[in-house]
Amino acid sequence: MIGKYFDYNATTPLREEVVDVLKEHIGTFGNPSSIHSLGRIAKSKVQEAKLQACKLIGAGEDNQIIFTSSGTEAVNFALKGYLHAFEEENVHIITTQIEHPATLEVCRFYENRGVEVTYLPVNQEGIVQIESLEQAMRPNTVLVSVMMANNETGTIQPIKQMLQTIKAINPHVFFHVDAVQAVGKVPVHVTDLGVDALSFSSHKLYGPKGVGALYMKDSTSLQPLVHGGGQENGWRGGTENVLGAIGFGVACSLAYAELPVQYDKMIELKAYLLEKLQTSIADFDVNGTIDTGHSLPGTLNVAFAHIRSEALAAILNEIYGIAVSVGSACSSEKVKLSHVLQALGHSEDRIKSSLRISFGKYTTREDIDYLIQSLSQSVYTLRQMLPQVKEKV
Ligand code: PLP
Repeated sequence: MIGKYFDYNATTPLREEVVDVLKEHIGTFGNPSSIHSLGRIAKSKVQEAKLQACKLIGAGEDNQIIFTSSGTEAVNFALKGYLHAFEEENVHIITTQIEHPATLEVCRFYENRGVEVTYLPVNQEGIVQIESLEQAMRPNTVLVSVMMANNETGTIQPIKQMLQTIKAINPHVFFHVDAVQAVGKVPVHVTDLGVDALSFSSHKLYGPKGVGALYMKDSTSLQPLVHGGGQENGWRGGTENVLGAIGFGVACSLAYAELPVQYDKMIELKAYLLEKLQTSIADFDVNGTIDTGHSLPGTLNVAFAHIRSEALAAILNEIYGIAVSVGSACSSEKVKLSHVLQALGHSEDRIKSSLRISFGKYTTREDIDYLIQSLSQSVYTLRQMLPQVKEKV
């Protein structure tokens, strides 16, 4: 079954090593706030997990990491936690048109309360042009939030260049990066990048669901979202998800150790997938870019002309047992055009024929062969039906 799973950007399977560690710690039930030995053990485990997370993203100190319930909460904490200080002021924030709803919905929430928001456009490859960021900056801009890698197309933004541009204009502007799709897949080093905050999520890197993290360069500028018993050094109330943190930490540690090997493997698999697609199926276009420097190695978004990807995904799933995604997986139950592909300037027709294939550490060449075989048969069948479909419309 795992070989037929091509939806790694939606979520990844728990890796076996993480399962083993979770089983081992199932009895680690102490409350990290308790002063007795059981509490201290739990506390040290959470601490250890933070160090493992720090190492993966190149953070200097474990107190720069706050564990949350998800990537979504980490993004919300960064944005709302920072904007809280400007409630009474006429401020401006910048984001992009292709963000995940975790960011877009926070921006819309503030827009409804009178905050000015600029949604930066992207080019046909899905990349923000530095000039447009430069032009969008205003004297009252206080926050910029940009995703490192897009969940639908895999396109990677020039984060370092963006940071340099922002800080050269105004060093006080807070720069948050949603790196939920990037961490564990491509090298991310917060100290090198110099960003103010960065969000990432356990279930995207083979860890358990229900845990995310926010890295903060300097936490003093944020207000907590959840007030309570002073956990997480006062940044997030609520008894810690100890087991989740342990699993996330181990997943981070393994991702760090394997990153160079996994990265090369994904690049090689993507090249193989593209080559196979080219020789097996006519009339398709890649959405985003396949430039290795600007895209996730395990993501390919493809538009197959003359078919509806919803029908294609259903055939792939029902007949071949393959899992892929049409549009953003987090919102795939809603039938609406992908805002990301719209921002790339694609037609409604192209968007409706687009499929996201995302793969990961358990994917093999044989799995790609099976995918291609199933895809080409399904695309062929759907295209054969086209004249009849057209006659009926
Ligand atoms: N940001 C991006 C780019 C994502 O792809 C996702 C989830 O798909 C999120 C944020 C939200 O993360 P989580 O599912 O951990 O809430």
